[in-house]
Amino acid sequence: MANSKIVQGHQARKRFGQNFLSDNHYISRIVDAIAPQEQHHIVEIGPGLGAITEHLLDKAGKLEVVELDRDLIPRLEDRFGNNDHFTIHQSDALKFDFTQLKNSEQKLRIVGNLPYNISTPLIFHLLEQRHVIHDMYFMLQKEVVERLCASANTKQYGRLSVMAQYFCQADMLFVVPPGAFSPAPKVESAIVRLMPHTKIQNPVNDADLLAKVVTAAFNQRRKTIRNSLKDWVAQEQFEQIGISSTERAERLTLNDFINICHFIENQHD
Ligand code: SAH
Repeated sequence: MANSKIVQGHQARKRFGQNFLSDNHYISRIVDAIAPQEQHHIVEIGPGLGAITEHLLDKAGKLEVVELDRDLIPRLEDRFGNNDHFTIHQSDALKFDFTQLKNSEQKLRIVGNLPYNISTPLIFHLLEQRHVIHDMYFMLQKEVVERLCASANTKQYGRLSVMAQYFCQADMLFVVPPGAFSPAPKVESAIVRLMPHTKIQNPVNDADLLAKVVTAAFNQRRKTIRNSLKDWVAQEQFEQIGISSTERAERLTLNDFINICHFIENQHD
């Protein structure tokens, strides 16, 4: 195979998105950003060969890892298994029930250098379980981090921005270059922090409706909302919501989308 690579005796698997962190400078910066402490209950998704795991385990009172690749499990056991505050779950994080891990007052802190191909569905899977989550730190493709954190009127702003920011405070912490990994990915990466809101400021009744409206608006990004949202809101009704029907999706703030949802919800009461 042209692009196969052995890292610390392990054949890196492309289909599992295996790009292992190898640069100590970035490993330290990530661990410093997470700032693990004795009282924290941390869950690491995709520990791989343990580049971050080692440092988290030094400081956190409880660390659980969720790893899909069976070949990596014995290595993680050998290296960390004798720590009584360490637990391995061999599982697909996309199907994993994180709520079952919470066994005290402490909410979970989730971290991971994620396979880029599963990052968006995984974030939505975790957002469904946000009531047990204190915060999340992910290494993602930089472009995805920019989309998560984008404000209205930028080209990165879209469905991912609106939905992530409805549920969370989203901040880009820093960029990580391809050379920090082995094998090196083709794109730049960045660390994002997602902090679920303890209370959503202006909640809708049905977040699925919000998701549908936002998806429809951005699927036809270049069209006016009068067109893209015509299944829900008639042209003259936009005035009642306080939004011009000739706007395009990328000019609407999260609050505008929430107000559109409130309007639709009230109509069906
Ligand atoms: N955290 C390590 C490894 C990053 S590579 C480091 O920074 O060096 C991504 C890791 O996620 C790999 O260990 C891969 O096997 C694992 N992985 C891939 N898909 C997964 C899934 N669906 N659920 C859990 N882990 C997964």
